[in-house]
Amino acid sequence: MDEVKTPEASRNFLEEIIEADLASGKHQSILTRFPPEPNGYLHIGHAKSICLNFGLAQKYGGKTNLRFDDTNPTKEDVEYVDSIQADVRWLGFQWAGLFYASDYFEQLYEWAHKLIDEGLAYVDDLTQEEIRTGRGTVTQPGTESPYRNRSVEENRTLFTRMREGRYLEGEKVLRAKIDMAHPNMLMRDPILYRIIHAPHHRTGDQWCIYPMYDYAHGQSDSIEKITHSICTLEFDVHRPLYDWFIEKLQIFPSHQYEFARLNLTYTVMSKRKLLELVKSGHVKGWDDPRMPTICGLRRRGYTPESIRLFADKVGVAKRDNVIDLGLLEWCVREDLNKRAKRFMAILNPLKVVITNYPKDKEELLDVRINPEDPDAGIRKVTFCREIYVEQDDFMENPPKKYFRLSPGNEVRLKYGHIIKCQEVIKDAAGNVTELHCTYDPNSRGANGAWRSVKGTIHWVAVTHAQNAEVRLFDRLFTEAYMDGIPQGSDYKEYLNTDSLKIVTALVEPALAAEPATFPVQFERLGYFIADMDDTSGRRVFNRTVTLKDTWTKKEEK
Ligand code: ATP
Ligand code: MG
Repeated sequence: MDEVKTPEASRNFLEEIIEADLASGKHQSILTRFPPEPNGYLHIGHAKSICLNFGLAQKYGGKTNLRFDDTNPTKEDVEYVDSIQADVRWLGFQWAGLFYASDYFEQLYEWAHKLIDEGLAYVDDLTQEEIRTGRGTVTQPGTESPYRNRSVEENRTLFTRMREGRYLEGEKVLRAKIDMAHPNMLMRDPILYRIIHAPHHRTGDQWCIYPMYDYAHGQSDSIEKITHSICTLEFDVHRPLYDWFIEKLQIFPSHQYEFARLNLTYTVMSKRKLLELVKSGHVKGWDDPRMPTICGLRRRGYTPESIRLFADKVGVAKRDNVIDLGLLEWCVREDLNKRAKRFMAILNPLKVVITNYPKDKEELLDVRINPEDPDAGIRKVTFCREIYVEQDDFMENPPKKYFRLSPGNEVRLKYGHIIKCQEVIKDAAGNVTELHCTYDPNSRGANGAWRSVKGTIHWVAVTHAQNAEVRLFDRLFTEAYMDGIPQGSDYKEYLNTDSLKIVTALVEPALAAEPATFPVQFERLGYFIADMDDTSGRRVFNRTVTLKDTWTKKEEK
C-alpha cells in the first residue's frame, strides 16, 4: 500500500471549524474531552476518538479532559476506569482534567429541579413499555402521558421522593416536557432520570436515581466548558436535545460535532460483543492478542506510534465507512520496520546437513541488527555443518520459478554461503526428514567471489538453536463486513476457528538476551513481541504481523 500524502494545506472539517472559532474570537482556546463509559476496555475505535480529541487540542494549543461517563452503575466498574486511564497514557496522551459524570450528580439534580420549576420536566408513572409505545413512530406523533400536567409542586415532591429512595425501579421516571409530536423522536419528552437501586463504583449508595446519557452528557460538557464536544455520527439526532438543555438551563454553550465512527473489516467493535467474547471464552481475555482492544493490540505488539499513525491515516469522515484491517497492519509494519531488531527463527524445522563442511568447524557471520537503522550496528551469528531451514523453503517437485531449495538447486543462506541440495532423505513413510547439501566456500562476499542466486532463505544452527513457543494469529472473524451479516444471524457464527496457532519454533540463542518488551523481526516471518507468558527459561512470542500482506494474496488465489 502506498502512503497517502495529504497536502499540508488540507484541513478536515473539524479543523476548519476550530480555526474559524479561534479566528472569530468565539473561543480563545479550545477544550475537548474523551468521555468513555467505564463499562469495558477501550478498543481501536476509541483510540481513533482519543487521537482525534487529544490531537486537535495539541494542534491548536488547547487541552483535553478525560471524563468517565459513569451514569449506569449496573454495568460499570473500577477495573475499567483503571484500564482506560492506562490505555490513554500508553497511547501517549495526558489529560488536563480527570472527571466523572458522577462528580456532577448534585448539580444535575439541582438543574432537574430548575426544569421542574419552569414547567419543563415532570414525573411520569407510566411503565417503560407504556412510555415507549406512547412515543409514537417516525410517521405518527406520540401521545401525551396522563401525568404530563402534574403541578410543579407535585413534581417537586415526587422527584424529591424518587431521590429519597421511596419507589421501586421502574415505578417513576423524570421526563422533559418538550413536544410529543416533535419530528425528532428523541425530543418527545425524553427520560432524564430513572431509578436504579444499585451501588455505584464511586458514589456508593448515595444515589438511587441516575441521569440518562442525554441529560448527563451535554451538561457535563458545559460544566467543564468544553468548546468542541466531538462524538460519533449516530449522535447527530441527539444534538437538538443537547442544545435544548443548554438553552433552557442557560449554561455554557458547548457544541456537539459528529464524525464517522471507525469500523474495521473482520472486526466487531461494540463493547457488549467484546465482553461477550471474553465471558464465553472465545478469547482468553480483554487483552487476548486477537482482540481489537488497545490492551489486546499492545500484547500483540502494536506500538502507540503505529496506532496514532493509523488514526491519522483514517482521517475524519462525515460518512460511515469500513476501513480495511490491512491499513492497521500496514501502519504497524511501517513503525516496526524502523525499530525491530532482526533475528532468525524457524517455525517448521527441516534439518540440513552440509556434507562438505567440516564437522567441528564453526563460523561467526556478521548480521546487521537493523538494516533500516545504520546506528544499530552488527552482531554475530554462528554457522556450522548442521542447520535448520523452514520446511516451506523446500519442494521436492517444485513448479517453475520456485527459487528456494529443491533437488539440484542452489539458494543463499541469509548472511552466509550458497548451498546446493544434493540428496533428499526420507523416512519409511516417505516424509522428507533431512536434506544433504553442499556449500560453496567462495560464495560469501568476504571471501571474494560474490555470486548471486535467486533465492535467499533463513536458517538456524542446530547446535545453538533454542526452543520458543510462537503464537500465530489470524483474523478473529471470517467475514469482512461484520455489520452486513444477515439480520437475525449471530456474529459468533462468523468466528474464525483457526485464529490461533501455537508452534514450537527454533530460534537463535541471541534472542534470549532480548528484553521482553522489545519488538523483533524474525527474518521473512514477520514482527514478533515477547508475550507476558514469557518467563525466565521459557520464551513465548506473539506474531504481531507478517512482513507482507499475505491475506490479500490468499484472496487473490
Ligand atoms: P461501543 O459502542 O463500542 O460500546 P461506546 O460508544 O458505547 O462504544 P463510549 O465509552 O461511550 O463507548 O465511547 C467513548 C467515546 O469513544 C465516545 O465519544 C464515542 O463516540 C467514541 N467511540 C466509541 N466507539 C468508536 C468508534 N468505533 N469510532 C470512533 N469513536 C468511537
Ligand atoms: Mg456509549
